[in-house]
Amino acid sequence: MPSTIDLRSDTVTKPSPAMRQAMAEAVVGDDVYFEDPTVNRLQEQVAELFGFEASLFVPSGTMGNQIGLKLHSQPGQEIIVEARSHIYNWEVGMGAAFAGVVPRLFNAEQGQPTWDDIEPLIQPKVYYRAQTAMVCLENTHNMAGGTVMPVETFRHICEQTHAAGLKVHLDGARIFNAATALGVSVAELTRGADSVMFCFSKGLGTPIGSMVVGSREVIDRAIVYRKMLGGSLRQVGVLAAACLVALEESPQNLIHDHENARFLAEEIADLPGISVDPTQVVTNIVIVDVAGTGLTSASVCERLAYRGVLTGPVSPTQIRFVTHRDVDRLSCKTAAQALRRLVTEID
Ligand SMILES: *Cc1c(COP(=O)(O)O)cnc(C)c1O
Repeated sequence: MPSTIDLRSDTVTKPSPAMRQAMAEAVVGDDVYFEDPTVNRLQEQVAELFGFEASLFVPSGTMGNQIGLKLHSQPGQEIIVEARSHIYNWEVGMGAAFAGVVPRLFNAEQGQPTWDDIEPLIQPKVYYRAQTAMVCLENTHNMAGGTVMPVETFRHICEQTHAAGLKVHLDGARIFNAATALGVSVAELTRGADSVMFCFSKGLGTPIGSMVVGSREVIDRAIVYRKMLGGSLRQVGVLAAACLVALEESPQNLIHDHENARFLAEEIADLPGISVDPTQVVTNIVIVDVAGTGLTSASVCERLAYRGVLTGPVSPTQIRFVTHRDVDRLSCKTAAQALRRLVTEID
């Protein structure tokens, strides 16, 4: 049997040889005393790249997002967040447990709202209503299929949200994918946010690591919340070193992941029982509805795994393919053929 093709997530990527070498050679110190030169360099470089005053290394995207909620809210306040968002669905209810916020959910087509979707959700300023603290956005939107929010839409939402006296946190776990798809810099794509979280551990390929980006004042408070969550690390330079390599080598390669995702979608779009629109695939995520096969998504994933292709069910009828640096075009073709065989063998 040929080797497994793992399309469950871009988190399955293994560190590159250059990353492993940089990790082995990293100059380190105790970051609780702010004495790790490598993480300090990473934090300065990321802040500069994003055009913000400061940034902070955190062990996971979940921690970065939850720090983001805590930064801009008080317990009992509301956050406006899209119904399929990572912050609401995949962070174990931590918004309630740590920041103590109540989600005000809404559905946006393709996961990407405009100001018209958001404005009516802001609560009136009367004492018996939970007050709205902030708006959370997700770019790219994972569960909507890696969709992107254009720069103008993001700017407009930030301006209007600020005019309403509220803050914006951007879950930019895959912001480099969004920037690649739109052909803009991450600085252009995040300007106006009060805090941004992005992940090194996804398509950028490091073993661990996410960042919170913001003003100096925001990051000084984020350091306290990171400590509360147990996320202050010691000789973290061994991890930061891999992130510095990722900044150099990874963003320019994301375009290949996007082309492979579109290719995969095109290869399977005409299969019986399979529903996916390849023109909607603009980054590295392909969400496919398999209801027409008569099988559950879990069953399709199980049958694909038997054929050496790993994917994940994301709803009872949908499965998700994620392309990344460790799968090439041929692997995507093989994966598509496996699905083709699977659906034509069902009776
Ligand atoms: C993966 C992901 C996160 C969280 O990252 P972890 O490092 O797994 O905690 C947050 N938001 C989105 C959109 C993600 O895809």
